[in-house]
Amino acid sequence: MNKMMLMTAGPTQVRENVRMARSTITMSPDEDVSFCEYYKQLCDKLARFFYTKNTFYILSGEGILGLEAACASLTEAEDKVLVLDNGIFGKGFADFVKIYGGKPVLYTVDDKQPIDVQALDEYLKENHDFKYATLVHCDTPSGMLNDVESICPVLKKYNILTVVDSVSASFGEPLNVDKAQIDILCGGSQKALSAPTGLTFLGVSDMAIETMKNRKTPIASFYANILSFVDYYEKKWFPYTMPVSDIYGFGRALENVIKDKHIFVRHKKIASATRKAITAAGLKTYIKAGFSNTVTAIMVPEGIDAKELLQKMREHNIMISGCFGELAGKVIRIGHMGENADVAYMLETLIALGEVLEEMGVILQCDMKKVFFKEVR
Ligand SMILES: *Cc1c(COP(=O)(O)O)cnc(C)c1O
Repeated sequence: MNKMMLMTAGPTQVRENVRMARSTITMSPDEDVSFCEYYKQLCDKLARFFYTKNTFYILSGEGILGLEAACASLTEAEDKVLVLDNGIFGKGFADFVKIYGGKPVLYTVDDKQPIDVQALDEYLKENHDFKYATLVHCDTPSGMLNDVESICPVLKKYNILTVVDSVSASFGEPLNVDKAQIDILCGGSQKALSAPTGLTFLGVSDMAIETMKNRKTPIASFYANILSFVDYYEKKWFPYTMPVSDIYGFGRALENVIKDKHIFVRHKKIASATRKAITAAGLKTYIKAGFSNTVTAIMVPEGIDAKELLQKMREHNIMISGCFGELAGKVIRIGHMGENADVAYMLETLIALGEVLEEMGVILQCDMKKVFFKEVR
């Protein structure tokens, strides 16, 4: 058994009752109508959790499948798509748009600040000829939180459909999908929900479905075609065999989240205490504002090798994340989301991080665990 404590920015730790739910005996999901009921009820629970009339679907595939399915299902050749970019996942949407023949128009702003709603509103006055826009709720590589509840309504003023990647924010940040006017919400199993990897879910508005149905050309994908799910309940038939065990685990994890009445407050407290502790010690966060409550990206101190730092953390039995893209080697990340958002786990993580950095010759200006503990109470 691996005794390593998982504190990465996803996947997160999985509670025992979720692991047990995954070992429930399963039937054929195509023959067993009760599975279809279970699936439908689970999707309806998601809709209630996110305060929306939109319809939810759980798809077999990682979070990335959700992002691709949104773009595959909406994009036709030459469609103009506004890609809001203040981070790696933000920019990444342009690739999905291009794959399906669309024309991404990047709205690139400072990656150390959340998207400024007023500035976007100004931009849209002159530029609003877009079929849909993509944006990221929490851009995980930097820990940037965008205020999607303010941004999407501005896009909707111009009838631009909104696709929101909330994979690493949902369940750790409150979100009211109807208030935000999100047409396609994308989420995943392995971040703050704390189910294992492997599932993505989509919350889709009627207007998004209408847009897909009114396409001139068919959706250029089978697996990433949202329309192939829309009548599963009437037909009691899924487009492909559902991963039953994954879905049972997901269902239990969602029950855990729903029972956890203080989930958002806890995420906020832990995130804020983490930032206080690391900054008091003289470390720096990568971003200047828009701090997510689910992940903190810390600048690797001058002269320190990120890989060596991560390795030394592992020797202390704690796994945290490095980063990728332009942030590779520049930041390390602690995921304090879902099951990881726990005072005791974070204390252990900060104790180990302090020891490792001092071992590596970094002089810290305080005892991080003391600051964290004082702040989090
Ligand atoms: C984790 C994550 C995804 C999904 O990526 P996977 O590689 O499928 O895990 C998508 N968007 C964001 C912002 C994420 O953090």
